[in-house]
This record gives sequence, structure tokens and C-alpha cells, in this order.
Amino acid sequence: QPLSGWAFGPAPRRGTRQVRVGNVLVGGDAPVVVQSMTNTDTADVASTVKQVAELWRAGSEVVRVTVNNPESANAVPRIVEKLAMMGIEVPVVGDFHYNGHQLLANEPACAQALAKYRINPGNVGFGKKRDTQFAQLIEFALQYDKPVRIGANWGSLDQSLATRLMDENALRADPWDAGRVLREALIRSALDSAARAVDLGLPADRIILSCKVSGVQELIAVYRDLAQRSDFALHLGLTEAGIGSKGIVASSAALAVLMQEGIGDTIRISLTPEPGASRTQEVVVAQELLQTMGLRAFTPMVTACPGCGRTTSEFFQELAKVVQEHVRARMPEWKITHPGAEHMTLAVMGCVVNGPGESRHADIGISLPGTGEAPAAPVFIDGEKSVTLRGANIAHEFVDLIDGYVER
Ligand code: SF4
Repeated sequence: QPLSGWAFGPAPRRGTRQVRVGNVLVGGDAPVVVQSMTNTDTADVASTVKQVAELWRAGSEVVRVTVNNPESANAVPRIVEKLAMMGIEVPVVGDFHYNGHQLLANEPACAQALAKYRINPGNVGFGKKRDTQFAQLIEFALQYDKPVRIGANWGSLDQSLATRLMDENALRADPWDAGRVLREALIRSALDSAARAVDLGLPADRIILSCKVSGVQELIAVYRDLAQRSDFALHLGLTEAGIGSKGIVASSAALAVLMQEGIGDTIRISLTPEPGASRTQEVVVAQELLQTMGLRAFTPMVTACPGCGRTTSEFFQELAKVVQEHVRARMPEWKITHPGAEHMTLAVMGCVVNGPGESRHADIGISLPGTGEAPAAPVFIDGEKSVTLRGANIAHEFVDLIDGYVER
């Protein structure tokens, strides 16, 4: 029996104002946008161009770079120009803290070249300076016709606001716990700053909000609340998610819950790369999260069983890897020559127990021989048994069948 109230698939996306970031639309009816951030010294033009290009090729639709000193601000227009010369029109976003107002004032070409300014309301300044410097940043957004992201962060919370809310809370008849007060401070920091930006003349459809925290449950609570209290487009991300599998699991858990509820217009998976690992991993994880949830399609997905004592060798694991890497590598070309290929489903299975069944559910699937089975690998295409592969060339022949399927 279906569970009472069970609904299949994500809730309809929450209605948000659509924001144009360079050539990319965020919010409204636009698909959830994948974005990432470089970790190069932005002043190092060659390294930053190389990494932005890698992130873009991996599928990042917006790339953020830190702009933290005059050298990096000076480098930004050259970075954007070099990317354009390479045919890469990815919007480059500037991440500003403390001195953004000065950098944008001193480097008009940087202000012009960036597609969006990220402003952290906790790091704009203190007291009266905070108000003035925030207003200056908004003035630049108006002058150069740019959107902004007002990105509050748990690690750099506006302390004066947090203190004020703590004081107010102490006077409540039924005080909130400290965690709720801090969550409220984070949300209020973003919402109050957005309201101020609107008062200063910035249209609401040029504002994206984020409120990042590093705990999964806290992030879900914060964004549910934020989504109820405004219709600004929302940037989702678990900040300081962590290294390796921990970061992937924590980010996916938090973002999946929110996106299932229709919350989130653009996502960033903030992974600490393992030493030597590519920065592009966070883009792949973001795409796979969106695709496995059925929200977008980027590349054919491979279903593979985990393998067990019935698998005769590691060959089937290798085949699953070869197939996933092959279709991912071909996808940029297929995107142009065979649009729709990204929706294709593939299966690589280790034995007859679930192999034929799972392969029939895929567009094209293969069931490799397990222990005690005849050395033959039936291939299923569109649910029907098509051919049986044998011998040492199975991987090569199966990849050819995939390419042929896409051609047809
Ligand atoms: Fe094991 Fe076969 Fe199931 Fe794969 S399909 S996990 S090899 S029983």
C-alpha cells in the first residue's frame, strides 16, 4: 500500500524572482544552476583562467573567484577577456569581503567585467562604516548594472545583529534556544541587507540570497524559514562541508531535502578537495545530485550493482567505470550532435540475479556472467535482449553499442 500522503517526485519549485547573471538565468522557471568557485590566487591570471575553464568544461554554469586585494581586482578583466578569447562565456562572480567597496572603486574594469558581486553582510564593515560601505557596494551594482548575492555565513555572522537578537530574546516570556537565535540572526542579516539594497534602488530581481551554515539540520531549518519569508532567488550550499565522502554526503543530504521541497535556484557543493584531487569534483557531484533527483539531466547515468561473491572478477566494476567515463567524455559533443542523449540510462550488472531485470529497465544494459554462469554477457536494448557478447573484447564492443544507440 502506498504511504498516506506519498507524492512522487520533488514538490513544485518555489516561485522566486528570476535574476540574470551574465548569460545565465537563476530563479523563476530557470533550471537549478550549478556553480563552483576557484581556489587559485586570482592575481595569477594563467592559473585562474585554467581552473575556470576546467570548471566550466566540467559543467559549472557560473564560477566565482575571490577578489581580495588590488592585484586580484586588477587581474579580473584580463581573466574574463582570456576566457572570452577561448570561447568560454561563463559568468565570473567576484567574492568580496571587507574591502570590496575600495576594490570596485579603484578598478572600474573589474567592476564591469564581473557578472555578479557577492557581498557578505557580516564582513562589510562595522557600525556606521558598515552602512556606508554596504551602500557603496550597492551603488556599484547600480552603476554597472550587476546583480548581487547577499551571502550570509555562519562563520562570519554580523555580530552586532546577533548580540541585539540575544538581548531581545532575553526579554521574551518564552525565550528561544541559542541555536534558534543564531539562525534568526543569519536570516535577518540576509533579509535586512536585501531590504536595504532595495531601498537604495537595487531591483529585487537583481538580488540572490544565501545563508550558509555547516550543519545539515541547521541548513535545512534556515532555508525552510528563509524560503517562507521572501521570494528572492536562493543560492544553496552547505558551507565548510568537509573533505571527501563526508563533504559529499553532508552536502547531498542537506540540499536534497531542500530541493525535494522545491527550495533552491542555484547550488554549490563546497568540497575540500582531497590532496591532488581535481576541483571539478564538486561540479560532478552537483550535477549528479540534480540528475539522480530527476531535476536536470547532464550525462547518461550508469546503474551498476555493488557486486558480491557471485561476481567472478573485478571486470564488471571496471566496465561500469569505463562506461560512465566514456559517456561523460562524449557528452559535450553529443550535447550538440545528439541533444537528449543526456537522458539515456545504462546498466552494468554483475550476474544473472538482478542483471537481466535491471538491464531491461535501462535503455541499454549488460549482464555480465557471475560465478557458475556461462561466459556470456547478454545486452538488452530498449528492454529487449539484443546480442550476447563473449570473449576479451566485451568492454570495447559494449561501448560501440552505446555509441550506435546514441547515433540512432
Ligand atoms: Fe551480486 Fe548479482 Fe546482485 Fe550484482 S546482480 S550484487 S553480482 S547478486
